[in-house]
Amino acid sequence: MQTDDVIDLARRLIAIDSVNPTLVPGGRGEREIARFVQQWAVDNGLASREIPSPDGRPNLVIGPAPAIEHDAGRRDGRTLMLYGHMDTVGAGSMEAPFEPRTVGDHLHGRGAYDQKAGLAAALVAVREAAREGIDSVIGVAVSDEEALSTGIREVLRHVTADAAVITEPTEMQVAIAHRGFAWIEIEVRGKAAHGSRPHLGVDAIFRTGPVITALERYTARLAARTHPLLGAGLLHASRIEGGGEMATLPDRCVLSVERRNLPGETAEGVLDEVEAVLDECRAADPDLRASARLTLSRDPFEIRPDDDLVALARAAVARATGVTPDLVGLSFWADSAYTAEAGIPTILLGPPGEGAHADVEWASISGTIACARSLVELARAFCG
Ligand SMILES: [Zn+2]
Repeated sequence: MQTDDVIDLARRLIAIDSVNPTLVPGGRGEREIARFVQQWAVDNGLASREIPSPDGRPNLVIGPAPAIEHDAGRRDGRTLMLYGHMDTVGAGSMEAPFEPRTVGDHLHGRGAYDQKAGLAAALVAVREAAREGIDSVIGVAVSDEEALSTGIREVLRHVTADAAVITEPTEMQVAIAHRGFAWIEIEVRGKAAHGSRPHLGVDAIFRTGPVITALERYTARLAARTHPLLGAGLLHASRIEGGGEMATLPDRCVLSVERRNLPGETAEGVLDEVEAVLDECRAADPDLRASARLTLSRDPFEIRPDDDLVALARAAVARATGVTPDLVGLSFWADSAYTAEAGIPTILLGPPGEGAHADVEWASISGTIACARSLVELARAFCG
């Protein structure tokens, strides 16, 4: 197989600004990078199909023409979906974010690690599989992973597969689980009054204090329930808003928390737990007027360690690199939650590196080549 050009492709992907415009107002979005990927497909003997998100942002399916022409994938032979997202977070204070630089084995630039090196590995693997006559491997390049995942959700309305590999960075381990998250807004109501007559009002910010303390105690209790690869569920306070004029008792305080939930914990269940914490607070303060609501949630992800795909992926990495990868859980959430929810057995496998969303970001060059080779090995084993 011919995978060394994966680094040239990764460099060209990094050089195209594709900052997510939902995340960063004014971000360039995925239009230009999608056009580049389409042209790359044509130049490499592959077909591409665009499946736009409802807001018009591009998502691409890349592969041999018969594999991508119709909705719902091919039915004869097992299809394998190799996924990468095209968008990145903002450039932050990164120096020359869109000028890829090589330092030893490190390829630097915004999106190198998260996850243009992985996307490049996926695309090159689709090409190499096609060159070997395996015509049921498709690449999926989506927009908007870093914000609302509108891209993968739209693609999954049209395309399915018998397995999916999400090429988010896993340090070349085979990742089989990650947490979900639930964003919860807690509103505490008070009553406005003049600061010189506090007995006529209720200070919503003071009322919120015990709620914060109770939530911190609840966070400590989460350690009692653990997942073998992920550890405990998490909760942190993300934001607090309330009050206005200095001489007025605030009538409202809004505390926003993020709960990272384990496989088996639903967003609704997590909300119930936060409601129970509010009940504890009400027991101590019967006048407390507080309510909680979910503002956004994403499911956790898990695949059984004894799934056929997991075994094939481990063996494929071992053949490509000489090292048998570990089975790991990931700290971050990824679009794998959606492919799994769509009924597609899914793992995550991507190159090593450092600095997702940070000011210094790089992907390993040797690791990116190893990733592309591993994906080709997996395609042979799964589809061949
Ligand atoms: Zn990512």
